[in-house]
Amino acid sequence: MQNFYYSLVHEHDPRLLLLAFAVCVIGCMSTSRMLWRSIVPVARVQRAWRLSAALVFACTIFSTHYIAILAFRPGVGMDFDIWKTALSLCVAVFGSMLGFLVLSLSDRGALRTGIAGILVGGTIAAMHFTGMAAMHFSGNIVWNHATVWLSIALGILLSVLALACTSNLHTISGRIQVSSLLVLAVCTLHFLAMSAMHISASSVARAGMVLNMDSMALTTAAVSLLFALISISATIVDHHISMRSGREVERLRQLADGAFEGIVLCREDQIIDVNLAFCVLLGLSAHTLRDSSISHLASSLYRSALQTTLSTPTFEPIEMELCTSNGSICPVEALSRPIEYLGKPATVLAVRDISERKLAQHRIDHLIHHDALTNLANRLLFQDRLQQAMAEADRTGQPMALLYIDLDRFKSVNDMLGHATGDDLLVQVAARMQETTRRVDTVARLGGDEFAIVQPLIHTPQAAATLASRLINLIHRPVLIGGHQVSVGASIGIAMYPQDGATPEILLQNADLALYRAKQYRGSSFCFFESNMDHKLQERRALEIELQEALENHQLHLNYQPLFSTGSLQLIGFEALLRWQHPQRGWIAPIDFIPLAEETGLILSIGRWVLLSACTEAARWSYPYRISVNVSAVQVQHSNLVETVAEILQTTGLPPDQLELEVTESLFLGDLEAILTTLRDLKKLGVRITLDDFGTGYSSLSYLRRFPFDHLKIDRSFVHSLGQDKQADAIVSSIVALSHSLNLSVTAEGVETETQLAALQSNDCDHVQGFLLGRPSPSSALASLRESGQIDASIPLGPFCTPIFLQMPISAD
Ligand code: C2E
Ligand code: CA
Ligand code: CA
Repeated sequence: MQNFYYSLVHEHDPRLLLLAFAVCVIGCMSTSRMLWRSIVPVARVQRAWRLSAALVFACTIFSTHYIAILAFRPGVGMDFDIWKTALSLCVAVFGSMLGFLVLSLSDRGALRTGIAGILVGGTIAAMHFTGMAAMHFSGNIVWNHATVWLSIALGILLSVLALACTSNLHTISGRIQVSSLLVLAVCTLHFLAMSAMHISASSVARAGMVLNMDSMALTTAAVSLLFALISISATIVDHHISMRSGREVERLRQLADGAFEGIVLCREDQIIDVNLAFCVLLGLSAHTLRDSSISHLASSLYRSALQTTLSTPTFEPIEMELCTSNGSICPVEALSRPIEYLGKPATVLAVRDISERKLAQHRIDHLIHHDALTNLANRLLFQDRLQQAMAEADRTGQPMALLYIDLDRFKSVNDMLGHATGDDLLVQVAARMQETTRRVDTVARLGGDEFAIVQPLIHTPQAAATLASRLINLIHRPVLIGGHQVSVGASIGIAMYPQDGATPEILLQNADLALYRAKQYRGSSFCFFESNMDHKLQERRALEIELQEALENHQLHLNYQPLFSTGSLQLIGFEALLRWQHPQRGWIAPIDFIPLAEETGLILSIGRWVLLSACTEAARWSYPYRISVNVSAVQVQHSNLVETVAEILQTTGLPPDQLELEVTESLFLGDLEAILTTLRDLKKLGVRITLDDFGTGYSSLSYLRRFPFDHLKIDRSFVHSLGQDKQADAIVSSIVALSHSLNLSVTAEGVETETQLAALQSNDCDHVQGFLLGRPSPSSALASLRESGQIDASIPLGPFCTPIFLQMPISAD
């Protein structure tokens, strides 16, 4: 240590010593910086920086050594062997190149770094001792070998440590660490080795080409200059490249940020970089996203899909969902491709926001599967849900119900108040249905005023019955539309799966049959499907075919029931009532086939036959008794009734004022304007018109004023309670008073008792009809009466003086 201190302080020129140190520091700093710059993915650039670092380091150790030698004052003369000096420079250059080459090998294990460190430390030592060997002193040199080995060992150790720190070269502190350790390695080795040398004066002959001190100073200056030149030009090139790559990086970033799609660069699950579009998509900053896990950005459903996309390149976009910063879910489609990034494998992921497309798809899907007016499921979606519910019932063993719903009186609302009101009503009814069903139930509109509900996973049919009665109550509640209080009812048919049908078609057909049965009851009701309903439907079909043949086969007959004036009980006319004499079933009452005839349209030809037969019969009477003929609403609306009546009157020669047409209140469910025109035209023919069954249906008092009726028939349900129920008395007396105020005469039908007759007489009712006074009889009975001359205006007829009416055959009644 003493020698080291003595040599440093007393044997060296301090100014040159300082210069040597400064050169060493600058050289080592340049070297470490170049080594850092050599860490780039481009091999060519890497090689250039490594070579520059090796050259600069070689120049550094060479210049430091020789400036320090120039600073050395051993007290004897010295010069330098030119070849050995050159050799020392070569040792420095090749040794550094070899050391840095080993350092840069891709696998930077501790062994590689150690070997590189030994090579670099060995290069410093080899250069030093080759340089020492190039020196000629005018004296003898004695070496302290222990110090020599110590200097070599320390030089190598410090070099290994310096290179071990190169993993931190990307930081300034890391570079300072590397530079400082290299400076220490160079200086420690040099000055410790110098202190190991003792020179005693003698005259030794010198031989060969030598450099004196001045030439040596020049050589050193030249090498330092070379080193400075390499450093400066490397710095300029580096600056230029940095600027260019900075611009390049900026250009690439702008390009990436300008992309419409989100771009994410990841390595395994870790995000390395993202572009602006991806940040905007998720509402997160690039800073937050970098280094975070990409799979955590996918919603839990799509996490594995994202991981698959990352591990295997996808050529078809894969749809998935990402979670945004505000907690919402963003549907996206993603494509991935493997790339090499900074020399290592990575994956680039292109992500496109497809929420607009999904929304449009959803809208179209909704339109295809929903009813535009009520927003309920349409037939298509209904079929699908029905199939699903049936499959679910098979899987779970829990039955399901299908409810088929038809609104009562909807048509009359639509006709009377207009289609806009009808639409509003449907919307409100649909909303009520939705309200009272569960989320798993599907409410569908199948068309017009027909609805259906799929009620899956119920335990017993009771659940369907409960829902049906709840629906009936809810739908029945009046709705206020445009100032009108509108009320409709609902009839519901229910079919259960699996017991009522194995396929959706059969189940629906059976629910429809049950609905048909429910509709047959008066008022809103529901009905479960029963296996014999199908049988009944087939019976109905058979009856339909038979009815078609009935007219051609003369199986239809007319019965005539007399009408009397209430006070005097004089015969005033007859009502023609239709009968069907079926070859197997016998007499069939009109109530059992008229509705069927109306549904099938057969009523048009049957009605024409009734009119013709009744008018023919009445035309034969010697006295002009009134003949009342029932006319169905279908006839009034669909056929050319006016022309038919005119033609029949002409053919039969019956005076028009003898004919009276009876229409029922169901007429008001049709197109009121058209009906009004037909009735007015009939009146123009001279025919009279009676409103039948008054009080049972749809009449509003305004109809009585608006339509050209001549008579009104009080329904027999009111007559039935007369004389027993005060309310019935009050209703009948007010109907009579009202009709008289409107110039309408009143007939009471269904008079069966004398009490009823007496009540009607005291209420000032105009005409009476009923079993008490005369039952419906075939025309043959009338013929015999006519022949016996009993039917004549001169002979007043009444129940007590004309027992023949009481004895007449009852036929189907
Ligand atoms: P409607 O027009 O109200 O005819 C009166 C019905 O009451 C007849 O039944 C008649 O037999 C019955 N009746 C009469 N007096 C009494 C009584 O004292 N007590 C009871 N309980 N009933 C009485 P019918 O003949 O069975 O006719 C039933 C319905 O069939 C008729 O009711 C009418 O709406 C319809 N109808 C009958 N013939 C024709 C027709 O030729 N064309 C059309 N469109 N409908 C007809
Ligand atoms: Ca009638
Ligand atoms: Ca009637």
